[in-house]
Amino acid sequence: MQSNYEERVLTGDRTTGKLHLGHYVGSLKNRIDMQQKYDTFILLADVQALTTHFESPKEIEQHLRQIAMDYLAVGIDPEKATIFVQSLVPEIAELTIFYSMFVTVNSLRHNPTVKSEAAERGYDQMYYGFLGYPVSQAADITFCKATLVPVGEDQVPHIEQTRKIVRRFNELYAPVLIEPKAVVGEVPRLVGLDGKSKMSKSMGNAITLDASAQEVRDKIQVAVTDPARIRKSDPGHPEVCPVFTYHQAFAAGTSDEVATGCRSGTMGCVECKRRIAGRINELLEPMRERRVAYEANPRMADEILIAGTKRAREIAKETMREVREAMGLNYRLDYDEARD
Ligand code: ATP
Ligand code: MG
Repeated sequence: MQSNYEERVLTGDRTTGKLHLGHYVGSLKNRIDMQQKYDTFILLADVQALTTHFESPKEIEQHLRQIAMDYLAVGIDPEKATIFVQSLVPEIAELTIFYSMFVTVNSLRHNPTVKSEAAERGYDQMYYGFLGYPVSQAADITFCKATLVPVGEDQVPHIEQTRKIVRRFNELYAPVLIEPKAVVGEVPRLVGLDGKSKMSKSMGNAITLDASAQEVRDKIQVAVTDPARIRKSDPGHPEVCPVFTYHQAFAAGTSDEVATGCRSGTMGCVECKRRIAGRINELLEPMRERRVAYEANPRMADEILIAGTKRAREIAKETMREVREAMGLNYRLDYDEARD
């Protein structure tokens, strides 16, 4: 299938839980802008979810539906963006295998995100699928020849890995694949409510996009702040306060005023938190309204995924045909035609 856009965007999320504010600033906001200008593909990464959730695969369906709703609520427009399910495009798995032939285990072991995620999850044994997930991401990105990938900072080493795979493939066989660029959001890594370096679905330190107004207030109320500040009159240190990073991310226009109030001991944590919870609720309110409309008709989300997956699959088949031809494996095509 041809497209008239100059650039093609691919990005996605693991179906491991609800989307949160970190996704919004790290990637979703860019996706919403980019879908206006570029041919945008958004992948529900249910196979990649298995790399860490293979013991509880039954939960994946619920997360998949939840994230599809999150996309629609946040403002991904199914008329503009192609939303699809990774496991229903088997060509991605095929490409992963082909690429894995020329990716070294050492390059994966040295990937800083793979290393830190394995440490956070306490993996003393490294699973083959987990170690190789950047290779499967390369397949996600290249099957549709994406040129731009809006992601959070943690994903940058993976895009670099994809670029290497593309160069190697093109050099070994024929110039079929396209090197993508990472597009990192305004806030490359939003910290968690617990002060941990990254708000994350799997760490229970997130404000999800479907949170109610009360839930936002409650979560902000218990969020970690500057540990040195005990009384309101103590001078605070916004530069080490996780809640202040939320002001910078979601209320940039008033963050200087908040920093001054905090440093001088005139604005306490209670007022600072009240303000940011209010601002986050303003951001989430239109999402809540859109969600109600989509939730009233759940079949609509299914239809969107079916149409998106069909389109992704057509493109994947075409890329696979080119890949096989480049590798001299196109005899498989004759077999497929004979069988059909
Ligand atoms: P998990 O903990 O299950 O890995 P996650 O919260 O890391 O979930 P992913 O599905 O792995 O979410 O990531 C989806 C996209 O969102 C990626 O581009 C990632 O970089 C971005 N992202 C996730 N968390 C943040 C964050 N806290 N700040 C900025 N970007 C983020
Ligand atoms: Mg992740």
